[in-house]
Amino acid sequence: MDCIFCKIARGEIPAKKVWEDENVVAFHDLEPHAPVHLLVIPRRHVVNVGGAEATDVELLGQVVLGCRQAAEAAGVAESGFRVVFNTNQDAGQTVPHLHAHVLGGRALTWPPG
Ligand code: 5GP
Ligand code: ZN
Repeated sequence: MDCIFCKIARGEIPAKKVWEDENVVAFHDLEPHAPVHLLVIPRRHVVNVGGAEATDVELLGQVVLGCRQAAEAAGVAESGFRVVFNTNQDAGQTVPHLHAHVLGGRALTWPPG
C-alpha cells in the first residue's frame, strides 16, 4: 500500500523519531504548529478513528499510551499537551493513516479553530 505513514513506520521514509516500540512510532511533524508537535501512529494501517473497529481496541490504547511516552520524551508531560485525532475532511485529515497529534510547549488556545 502506498501510504506515507506506513512507509515511515517501516523506515522507508526518514522521520525525526522521538519514541517507538513494536506497535507504535512517534515522530516530529514536518510542519509544526507548536514548539512540540509530534505524530503518534500505529505500525498497523488503520485509516482513522472513524474506521476503527472493536478489534482495534488494543491498538487504540497503544497509540494513546504512545502519546504519553512521546510527551515525556519531548519534555512536555508535566507542562501539558493536547492530543488530537483529525478524522475525515471537516477535521482537515490529510493523511489517511490513523495518527494522534501531540501538541505542547506553549499555552494552547481553546476552543481550537
Ligand atoms: P492531518 O492533517 O492528517 O491530521 O495530519 C497530517 C500531518 O502529517 C500534518 O500535520 C503534516 O504536516 C504531517 N506530515 C505529512 N507528511 C509528512 C511526512 O512525510 N513526514 C512528517 N514528519 N510529517 C508529515
Ligand atoms: Zn498506512
